[in-house]
Amino acid sequence: MTASELLSDLRGRGVRLWVAAGELRYGAPKGALGREATQLLAQHKAELIELLKAPLSDAPSAPPAPRAAARTRITALERRMIDLAALPNWNAEEQVSYIRHVAPYRGFLYRQLGLDKTFVRGEGCNLIDEYGTRYADFVAQFGAVPFGHDPQAIWDAIDSVRREGRPNLAIASISPVAGELAERLLAVAPPGLAHVVFTNSGAECVEAALKLARCRTGRLGVLSTRNGFHGLTLAGMSATDKEFFQRGFGAPVAGFNYVPFGALAALQSVLELRPDYFAAFLIEPIQGESGIHVAPPGYLAAAHALCRRYGVLLIVDEVQTGLGRTGRMFACAAEGVTPDILLTAKALGGGLMPVGACLYTRAVFSEQFDLRHGSTFAGNTLACRAALATLDELTKNDGRLVRQVAETGERLQADLLQLQRAYPELVKEIRGRGLMLGVELDLDHIARTQSGLLAILQQQDLLLYLSVSYLLNIEHIRIAASFTQGNVLRIEPPLIADAALCEQLIRALGNLLRVLRDGDTGALLGHLMGTTPTDARRAGTQVAAQPSVLPSATEPAHTGRARFAFVVHLLGTSDLRRFDPSLESGVDDAQLEQLRARIAAFIRPFPHGRLSVCGADGTCADGELIVLPHLPAELLALSGEDALGLVQEAVDLAAERGATVVGLGGFSSIVAGGGLSVRAPAGLQVTSGNSLTTWAALRAVERACADGGPRLGDSTVAVVGATGAIGQALSLLFAERAAKLILIGNPNATAAGLGKLHAVARDCERHTVALGRAAPAIEVTTRIDDALPHADVVLAATSAVAPFIAPRHLRQGAIVCDISRPFNLTPGLEAERPDVRVVGTGLVRAPAGSSLGHLGERDRPDVLVACAAETIVLALSRFAGPHLCGSLDVATIASLGRLSEALGFSAA
Ligand code: PLP
Repeated sequence: MTASELLSDLRGRGVRLWVAAGELRYGAPKGALGREATQLLAQHKAELIELLKAPLSDAPSAPPAPRAAARTRITALERRMIDLAALPNWNAEEQVSYIRHVAPYRGFLYRQLGLDKTFVRGEGCNLIDEYGTRYADFVAQFGAVPFGHDPQAIWDAIDSVRREGRPNLAIASISPVAGELAERLLAVAPPGLAHVVFTNSGAECVEAALKLARCRTGRLGVLSTRNGFHGLTLAGMSATDKEFFQRGFGAPVAGFNYVPFGALAALQSVLELRPDYFAAFLIEPIQGESGIHVAPPGYLAAAHALCRRYGVLLIVDEVQTGLGRTGRMFACAAEGVTPDILLTAKALGGGLMPVGACLYTRAVFSEQFDLRHGSTFAGNTLACRAALATLDELTKNDGRLVRQVAETGERLQADLLQLQRAYPELVKEIRGRGLMLGVELDLDHIARTQSGLLAILQQQDLLLYLSVSYLLNIEHIRIAASFTQGNVLRIEPPLIADAALCEQLIRALGNLLRVLRDGDTGALLGHLMGTTPTDARRAGTQVAAQPSVLPSATEPAHTGRARFAFVVHLLGTSDLRRFDPSLESGVDDAQLEQLRARIAAFIRPFPHGRLSVCGADGTCADGELIVLPHLPAELLALSGEDALGLVQEAVDLAAERGATVVGLGGFSSIVAGGGLSVRAPAGLQVTSGNSLTTWAALRAVERACADGGPRLGDSTVAVVGATGAIGQALSLLFAERAAKLILIGNPNATAAGLGKLHAVARDCERHTVALGRAAPAIEVTTRIDDALPHADVVLAATSAVAPFIAPRHLRQGAIVCDISRPFNLTPGLEAERPDVRVVGTGLVRAPAGSSLGHLGERDRPDVLVACAAETIVLALSRFAGPHLCGSLDVATIASLGRLSEALGFSAA
């Protein structure tokens, strides 16, 4: 039973079938599905899915609902469209005119990734930039540069038009040169083709072919293959099964459907289901854009036979594969197939002229198409002469060049296979024919096994582009990466590439693979830091091979223990070294900042590290960091919406990876309104971590006072940043304990800010009265210089990005607790003022034996910031409460303090 017979049988029995999230679903009346039918369903699952995605109506007014395109690699570039106007160091007006007027966004991407070369000369297979550096061109405009960048024979042909005074454009006349070109093309194409339509590009060939097929058959449907590529005009894009290219452009238009590449059964099922619907089946013999996938042997011939059976025209798109690229004049000829329509473009212009051709059989000829299709520039004399010269080049010496392509390609493929044997963990597959080869890399291996920046970049889908950037800048090899699918390097040099050029490529790829294997960030990215290659090479130290992240909770390794995540951001560029020890030496901060600034715009929040803590009661929790690669000032400079969006993304990522509690560290809490502005997905508790931070500060000060400091009850306590959530809570807590409070607000505070400061003072009074105590004396001020030197105890809890509490602000023997990050105390203050006791700094000691990763303070095992400790305490205790975000509550602070002590945490 075929799949479509099965489908109509099931429908006859009242079984309803549909596809959801790529899976086959069905609903059946009781008893309608026996064991046999269930087995058949499972057996034909893939074909049924295809059938169900096929159109149900051929009326253009009722197109099939556009299905979700096949899942492709969601690239870093796609995931986040960067608003150029929001970038501090990007002004389109300052860019060269190409970037300013032609491609501002692409220009930005090129620059950030180090791909912004300006080529001023082309010589053979090399491009030369404005500084005279030569780059071997393994892109060759995806095959449109067959004879290198200075093809004398093609130039001569173009010159001949001028020399002979031929008209270039003379529409509605008889063009001998177009006729001659058609004849020559038909002679080198597979036998049986009779007519040619000239075009100006590959996509225009696709348009012409589809119009011809619809016109000839009177049908609407166009079937193409998943992950194919057929150009970016509306029809080409509709036939191109990639959401990346289609989204937002109204594609696919009515009538376009897809089957898996190479799957005959699926093709048969779809054609069978709609025998009179499809005009054409459009296919590439080798899928290029999606990473060089070769059709299985015999597939094209069998597909053609199927198409014939259903009156469907076979269109073979050899825009890229045609004219020698695969070591044959046309790839379909190698399969013994003459399609109904054959498309060729790219190489046809010999690297100088845009020209394409759509060849078709006599049977396909249509008077109406011939009469009504056309294009102003198509078939112009210059293009035809260039194309004739191209055919001369390809056919001279009995087609020696095409044979040479086959031989060079075979040798190159053998060398690539040898590289694969040397790096089996990094090279997944070598594919292709002739000089159209693909190297599929397993870059996820790096994300799985390394812990440095390269692993992080791969998590963000950036490593492929950065590898291409390395090849370009360090190895001087220009190579393309698959843009939408897989991690594939596409190798397509000019057809004239020789052994020496291929050796250069193999050497370069070998170097790239070594650098990737060693996790040598300095070597891979040195050129983005402004270091010379040799400096960069020296800088590299191997990153220990170890998984960088906790497996997500959905992975089998998940233990069932409580899971937490803590959102952090960089405090300084040098923090990057914490994530990548290979940057410890040889790369200075300025270089590191260059690198960070280049990649920060692309990097989304990423998980890092494996943390685990067991409480004194034996309960354990596992966790990880979710890192924002931004500095505090950058977070503050973002629009509120963008900054919150980043934090929300981090929270969602934490939830996705199985966390039940997520803490917001540093400015991630500040830009998210103390956590109040983030939406917590169901089952996730979000905390600012501020309660335990407040508790830790209180404990540290109490301890210092008890340990030879002033008696707290007689002391003047200053709270710097008293209107913040922590500042307010500290004000209340010290109002209970101190003789006098000085509440200090931001000197730039508005009237509303000042009002808030006074409101805090009133709250303090109410709070102490409610406790049945006398309220302390309370001074409210923004004049830090005057007020602070009077304080015995100084508490600093602000979101200032630069330190501002200097030695002159502190009285003799003052106790200072700075819980701000970045710190408010100026660096070196302790050395300058040995009389001052700096305590607390918002730190907590976790139970001994905890694995705190980068959360742990350097050189202080088990010590971490209190807000992170609160996250862990919540995970371990499963404490829940309404005051974990936003304004704090003294009762919650006390409860969490008690809980944390019971679990074995203590103020550090
Ligand atoms: N078809 C195939 C197979 C292609 O590879 C391409 C371009 O890469 C096209 C069509 C579109 O060609 P053009 O960019 O000239 O419109």
